[in-house]
Amino acid sequence: MMRSFTPSLIKRDTLKKFVARIFGRSGKTRRNGVVLDAKKYGIRRELISAGSLRTVETLQQRGYHAFIVGGAVRDLLVGERPKDYDVATDATPDEVRQCFRRSRIIGRRFQIVHVMMGSETVEVTTFRGHQSGGSKAPTDSHGRLLRDNVFGSHKEDAARRDFTINALYFDPVAETIVDFHDGVADLKEKRLRTIGDPGTRYREDPVRMLRGVRLAAKLGFSIDPDARKPLRELAPLIGNVPSARLMDEVLKLLMSGRAVDCLENLRSEGLHKALLPLLDSSLDDLHSERFIRAALLNTDQRVRDKKPVSPAFLFGALLWHEVLNEWETLKNAGEAPFPSLFQAMNSVLEHQAGKLAITRRVAGDIRDIWSIQPRFEQRSGKRPYALLERSRFRAAYDFLLLRVESGDVPAEVGRWWTDFLDADAALRAEMLSSPPIAERPRRRRRRRRSATPSDRPESAESAVSVESTD
Ligand code: ATP
Ligand code: MG
Repeated sequence: MMRSFTPSLIKRDTLKKFVARIFGRSGKTRRNGVVLDAKKYGIRRELISAGSLRTVETLQQRGYHAFIVGGAVRDLLVGERPKDYDVATDATPDEVRQCFRRSRIIGRRFQIVHVMMGSETVEVTTFRGHQSGGSKAPTDSHGRLLRDNVFGSHKEDAARRDFTINALYFDPVAETIVDFHDGVADLKEKRLRTIGDPGTRYREDPVRMLRGVRLAAKLGFSIDPDARKPLRELAPLIGNVPSARLMDEVLKLLMSGRAVDCLENLRSEGLHKALLPLLDSSLDDLHSERFIRAALLNTDQRVRDKKPVSPAFLFGALLWHEVLNEWETLKNAGEAPFPSLFQAMNSVLEHQAGKLAITRRVAGDIRDIWSIQPRFEQRSGKRPYALLERSRFRAAYDFLLLRVESGDVPAEVGRWWTDFLDADAALRAEMLSSPPIAERPRRRRRRRRSATPSDRPESAESAVSVESTD
């Protein structure tokens, strides 16, 4: 591992600036890494968080190499504000620990250090090494890396990262960028390239395929043709990734603020099948596709508005039409409406659980959201009040509005509930005593049928209308 013996930060800083100035774009100073003047690319140390700057400064003052790395550098270069900061260093986790009083080592297999700086937590990782496709790295029979936990040099650390634009290192003290794989050029060209052979890199870690799709959608980049080519063929390898890890990645994807684009890209590359097997048929159905699209557009807007997004709502929406289909089948087979709804919900969630680890809590929330839907049809007596008391009522109501938006449910039902929620006690009582609305759906259904193309054998509105048993 490399160590610097430059005694003071000042000297090191001055020297680095000097080198960067002399060599400009092509100064090969860090063992094949090109050192660039960060200011020329619009990055200055003032743009990074105080905590990450302090962390790097401290490590450098102690004689280590330290850089901001990965997503933060990439985001800064495209003019976006990073959401968090990762630091890469040649100090070992124990050495990092000794530099910061408020820090702790996380993880057993591959240790990283969380450095607490005020309210900020900076993740510090020791340079990792593994030669891509190297014979020493242990893999499963498909080439998936089973271990990735050896320390390495700066150059090796860059080589084990996934995409060229994610292997850029910003030194905020010297205000330079170290670029080992032409990542800055790729950023300029808005191009996503893997480091090394794409097929090998996806086999080592199939999650990289999903990361590629997410990053391309998030940044508005194109995936380089070479990096795109193996996706379809290797998509089934996603099935070998532990389901909890897959869940993390899918949530990142759905909450990226570009979920609609992500899903479209996943679909066009055939990557969605291994994640959400049930989604495949839903997306082939025009009607349910419209619903899923509305749900994801709504989510993207919420992310942009910095509003919270719930995984239960998202997965509930993605799988809703599968529940409706199964429910319909069960009812047609003569099962009672309510028990068969629960049977359908369980079967859909079980099928999905094999691929993605939907936690029990999230699954419980999804069930709540789904099971409230038929009850929105019941707008008399005390039932609407009871519904307001249900946990997840608010999410279920948002879900109802989505169903209205996608033409699943008459707009009048959504309006009624919106009015009911806004109303005071007297108005609520009046709404509940007004003439039964039960007549209306039948008339509306007839009108809607003539207005919409006959691509649906049956209106979903009727599919969720059941007599309450409670
Ligand atoms: P974002 O935080 O916006 O999701 P990111 O690129 O920062 O994007 P992280 O998961 O925070 O993603 O990872 C930080 C860095 O670690 C990445 O930029 C990349 O260099 C590296 N990395 C992450 N996941 C992988 C992977 N599966 N294979 C190789 N390198 C990876
Ligand atoms: Mg990140």
